[in-house]
Amino acid sequence: MALKNLADAFHDELRDILSAERQLVKALPKMAKHASCEKLTQAINNHLIETQNQIDRVEQAFEETGKQAKAKTCEAMKGLITEANEMLDEEGEPAVKDALIIACAQKVEHYEIATYGTLCTWAEALGYVNALKLLKQNINEEEAADEKLSELAKTINMAAMAAPAG
Ligand code: FE
Ligand code: FE
Ligand code: ZN
Ligand code: FE
Repeated sequence: MALKNLADAFHDELRDILSAERQLVKALPKMAKHASCEKLTQAINNHLIETQNQIDRVEQAFEETGKQAKAKTCEAMKGLITEANEMLDEEGEPAVKDALIIACAQKVEHYEIATYGTLCTWAEALGYVNALKLLKQNINEEEAADEKLSELAKTINMAAMAAPAG
């Protein structure tokens, strides 16, 4: 039996987020490239750098489990990235595409926040002090990234509404 206690669940979920973050590092450059708003491009590129640091922290968070830091394909992130890429390949008004890039990016952030929320709760319960510290740093960055996107959406949505009809 592979999943016999909460420590096993923690390790499994850590493997999932490691995969998710690694997928994102590969996906974010395309999103940044397709963004028209300079501030949106900057925000995505900034989060790309943060994501690289998050991968290092997740790898370190494995230490207290005493188990291998080996990723396990996150199918959810794979799906979110597939949806984003399909949208990016479509023709459209720049501001409308930007509004959709924010929508896709926020789905990703919310997924990460959900996963890190669970991981933080479990790390605390299991007494994984160092892992908890590292995972809290990651969830804080995800929440800040999400807030930044909401802020950018205010002007971008206005621009998308001003786009010509039909
Ligand atoms: Fe992340
Ligand atoms: Fe997942
Ligand atoms: Zn999407
Ligand atoms: Fe993120």
